[in-house]
Amino acid sequence: MVVGGGFGGLQVVRKLRRAAVDVTLVDRQNFHLFQPLVYQVATGALAAAEVAAPLRAVLKRQANVRVMLAEVTGFDLERQQVVLDHLPNGGSGKTLGYDMLVVAGGSRYSYFGHDDWRERAPELKSLAGALDIRNRILTAFEAAEVESDDELRRSWLTFVVVGGGPTGVEMAGQIAELARETLRRDFRGVDTRGTRVLLVETADRILTAFPPLLSHRAERALEKLGVTPLVGHTVVDIGPVSVAIRSADGELENVAARTVIWAAGVAASPLASALASADGSQVDRAGRLTVTADLTLPDRPEVFAIGDMVRVAQSDGTIAALPGLAPVAMQEGRYVARVIRDRLRGRATEPFRYVDKGNLATIGRSKAVADVKGIRISGFPAWVTWLVVHLFYLIGFQNRVLVVTRWAFSFVTRGRGARLITDTGAQAD
Ligand SMILES: Cc1cc2nc3c(=O)[nH]c(=O)nc-3n(C[C@H](O)[C@H](O)[C@H](O)COP(=O)(O)OP(=O)(O)OC[C@H]3O[C@@H](n4cnc5c(N)ncnc54)[C@H](O)[C@@H]3O)c2cc1C
Repeated sequence: MVVGGGFGGLQVVRKLRRAAVDVTLVDRQNFHLFQPLVYQVATGALAAAEVAAPLRAVLKRQANVRVMLAEVTGFDLERQQVVLDHLPNGGSGKTLGYDMLVVAGGSRYSYFGHDDWRERAPELKSLAGALDIRNRILTAFEAAEVESDDELRRSWLTFVVVGGGPTGVEMAGQIAELARETLRRDFRGVDTRGTRVLLVETADRILTAFPPLLSHRAERALEKLGVTPLVGHTVVDIGPVSVAIRSADGELENVAARTVIWAAGVAASPLASALASADGSQVDRAGRLTVTADLTLPDRPEVFAIGDMVRVAQSDGTIAALPGLAPVAMQEGRYVARVIRDRLRGRATEPFRYVDKGNLATIGRSKAVADVKGIRISGFPAWVTWLVVHLFYLIGFQNRVLVVTRWAFSFVTRGRGARLITDTGAQAD
């Protein structure tokens, strides 16, 4: 049984297509989400269906797989069973047995103990979150258009993105491009080019996973787009109409802003702690479970855990907290499928080893940074690399064609075809 049809889980399932096993894939959503492009849904550049692929469609030709829509809420490792809730027929508490279990539940955003901020500052982890953000961003421009008070209008045109990692950088860059290029001729009462986009990062630079040179280039590229990177600054409160931001020297500023987007702090899926408590082990501060070098739980060779929700103990006893990236989850997924195939043939498998192929982040049109095996590039070549890599890994031929077509149109026209507000709060007929 595989829990989670994301980057890790789907690789396990696909790489078992020729193995003599029956696979049950359980996911609480009926689609695989290509998270790296979700921010483009949030800013109207792509439609939701273009970054997601229904799991049943992805796996329809793989006869040894059964897909189940349900939420896994617990594990009985002694009886080799998982507990399923929120079944589509309304059922809950159903148990399902397994011979081998792979758990790949991913991660979610952590609000550093301020869960009350979640409502004001939505995050991009899910498709629903992205559509919520899209509604809020587009509604803010509409609100500015009908607002006669200058100060209030400014607050509608001020966007705060919390977290200067790749997602925060991408979001901030996209909002700035949306305001300055796509929308600038669409409104009559408001000049959207006056939009402020603040990117708040506690560390002393953005994109800390990249070498400092690329962080600084990315900062300059963002500034050119009209984003204000506030490095060394921390969001300390998020109220209904303002955000309190503290600088490194302790100065506090209350910024009037109606739209806040959360892209900071990641915590493992609760499935990691559910597995840990079923096994009597512990999770780390980010909620991650520690697995052995063959990605199984210690003394439970039949239970694998992979992806964002785990750290890997190396053969030499050190623990590797690999980055929360799709290639890590995919390589782990492929490795688990190999272990399972090897076991069926009575062969041993080498311990898991992550091959780091590099890091990419896009900032905006023709702007990106890439650190590929020590080669540092920025600007147009990095952006083309980013496009090719993302198209290559996007699931589904149809999605690739649709996305490349949309990107080509947007590149030429600077437009965004998916600028729909789907929740206006107005009464339906
Ligand atoms: C906005 C954003 C942008 C990103 N951009 C990049 C990028 O550009 N490059 C990159 O390499 N990485 C990027 N990442 C990180 C990358 O998406 C993750 O590292 C990767 O998805 C981890 O794979 P996974 O299999 O561990 O989890 P996921 O891909 O998140 O899959 C988890 C799956 O488990 C399912 N699930 C969770 N809980 C349950 C449950 N209780 N019951 C049933 N099913 C459950 C979920 O529905 C989901 O399908 C980004 C992440 C985000 C959020």
